[in-house]
This record gives sequence, C-alpha cells and structure tokens, in this order.
Amino acid sequence: MDAMENSVRDTVVLGTGCAGLTAAIYAARANLKPLVVEGHEPGGQLSLTTLVENFPGFPDGIQGPELIENMRKQAARFGAEYMRGHLVKADLNERPFKLDFGGDKTVLTRTLIIASGASARWLGLPNEHKLIGHGVSSCATCDGFFFKGKPITVIGGGDSAMEEALFLSRFATKVTIIHRREHFRASKIMLDRARKHEKIEFLTDTMVEDVLDPSLKEVTALKLKNLKTGKVWDFPTSAMFLGIGHEPNAKMFTGQLDMDDDGYLKTHDFVMTRVPGVFACGDVQDRRYRQAITAAGSGCAAAIEAEKFLEEHGR
Ligand code: NAP
Repeated sequence: MDAMENSVRDTVVLGTGCAGLTAAIYAARANLKPLVVEGHEPGGQLSLTTLVENFPGFPDGIQGPELIENMRKQAARFGAEYMRGHLVKADLNERPFKLDFGGDKTVLTRTLIIASGASARWLGLPNEHKLIGHGVSSCATCDGFFFKGKPITVIGGGDSAMEEALFLSRFATKVTIIHRREHFRASKIMLDRARKHEKIEFLTDTMVEDVLDPSLKEVTALKLKNLKTGKVWDFPTSAMFLGIGHEPNAKMFTGQLDMDDDGYLKTHDFVMTRVPGVFACGDVQDRRYRQAITAAGSGCAAAIEAEKFLEEHGR
C-alpha cells in the first residue's frame, strides 16, 4: 500500500506485537478487514525474546518469534492486511480519523486500535549510542552470539535483565549483572535461576557512569560507581546489554490523547481512550502487568470494542 487510500477503513491496528496481532485476529474474524501497521520493531518485544514459558497453552514453552509468527498467520487467514509504516501524525479530531505515514501515505479509518507497544530504554551515557552495534545492545537474542567466549555485562534488576543474563551465559565466559539497588524487581523464579547459574555474578548498588573505549570502536570496559561507598573504577567487559525496561511508543498522540507522566496512554474501562472510536491496548497503555497474555487480552477487548463502536455508529 504505497499511496493515499481513497476508501475508508473500518479499523486500523497500529502495531504487530502480541496486543496488535490479537486485536487483528478478532477484528478480522468480525469481518472488519483490519489494516495492520507494522512499524520499526515488527513483532514487538516477543520477537526479541527466546523461550516464552508462561503463555497458556504451551506446556513446554514456545519461542517468542514463533508465537508472533503464528499470530500473524492466524490474523492473515481471516483477512487482516499488513502494511509497513511509521505513523508521523494522526488527526483524531475529524471523522474518519486521518493517519499520516509520511510522503503521500495517508489512511482514513473509522476506528483506531493503538497497540504500538514500548521500546527499550537506554541509560543516556556519553558513549552509549556511539557504541551501539559495537558492544552496546538492548537485544541479547539479536547480538549475544557476537560475544562468544567473552565476558558480558547486563544492566538492570528486573525479569528482562535476568532473562538476558541467562541467555547470554550460553555464549559468554562470564555474565555480570549490574544493578543500582540491593533489592531486585525480578520475579523470584528468574532471580533464583540467575543466582544459581555458575557463570552469572552480581554487582549491586552500582551504576554505570560510561562505556569505555578510547577509540570508540568497541567496548573494553565500563566506568562504574558504587553508590554506597562512592568508589569509581573501570570494569573490563566486552559488551553491555541493557535490560532496564521500556518506554511507551505514544509520542505521536501528544495533545490528542491523555497520557500519564511517563507517556503511557491513559485508558478507562480497560481499553477506551478519551476519543470515542480510538482504543489502546498492550504495553503502550499498561505499565502494571506488561505480560504477553495481558497484552493479548487487551488486544481482544480493543477489537470487540471497535466492532461495537462501528455497529452503534453505522459502518
Ligand atoms: P522492569 O521490571 O521495569 O525492570 C527494570 C529494571 O531496570 C529495574 O530493576 C530498574 O531498577 C532498572 N533500571 C531502570 N532504569 C534504570 C537506569 N536508568 N539505570 C539503572 N537501572 C535502571 O522492566 P523489565 O525487566 O523489562 O520487565 C518488564 C515487565 O515484563 C515485568 O512485568 C516483567 O515481569 C516482564 N517480563 C517477564 C519475563 C518473563 O517472565 N520471562 C521476561 C522479561 C520481562 P530499579 O529496580 O531500581 O527501579
């Protein structure tokens, strides 16, 4: 779909993570022929993870990318249509809603399901972005292999950090988890697994002040600071993987939809935004649970609400 669409869509689903694809399955089965927009991170966070052990129905677990691919096919089977694009601007004041994807790529739609998810957070260190792809990464499954036989560092104290560390222990000689506090946000089961692993060690009450390499060609060390003692030292490592959470992808709706202080879309009655006909689901509006299954549940609800809205307002 390259140019301006003349016809008005019943519904557009923004995002192809677990929430977006579940919304697409339900909307497609309701015969709404959803247009599903795939942005910069197709498949969302599940496509960057490995074994998913807590999605019901898979007693032996399922690989994240496989789960996403299955959902994608399932939605396509019922008539969902996919389009690559990055939403530049949305006009939610007029009806139908106008979605501007840059150039002459504009889509008109009666309802909108926002499932744009959340993206990895960075530390904001002076050398961090210069070394992305050269030892700094936010995706263990994408980049871990490059550090085979080398020491690796993971930053964070939540489940993502534990999961990354466990995955990276397959390649690394040693994985060090650096966390800014003594207490961990990670679930007990994940933390215990990491603690018991012979290759994983922990540095707590410690923050990273910068990523080091004088020539900025590859990571050789991290400049660390112990927050209790104030000690600063250079810690040799080959890679720094971030596991410090995510930021919601909702900036394009600033001024049009309500957001909390951290930029998450505010919803009422599960998936309703303040604009009737616009629904939000998954990590872009959920800062509390942030699970694949809760994202899927809210995607389902958003599609059902979109269908109801269209019925009540005439298609
Ligand atoms: P999270 O639970 O929000 O944890 C983020 C961690 O990063 C926290 O420990 C936080 O430290 C630290 N952090 C944040 N900003 C930092 C900064 N600027 N400098 C240093 N440290 C920083 O995020 P998450 O681990 O991505 O997990 C998100 C959700 O997904 C959770 O509900 C989690 O259970 C779920 N999840 C589940 C699985 C699984 O079950 N397999 C895997 C991954 C994620 P503080 O603790 O000090 O705030």
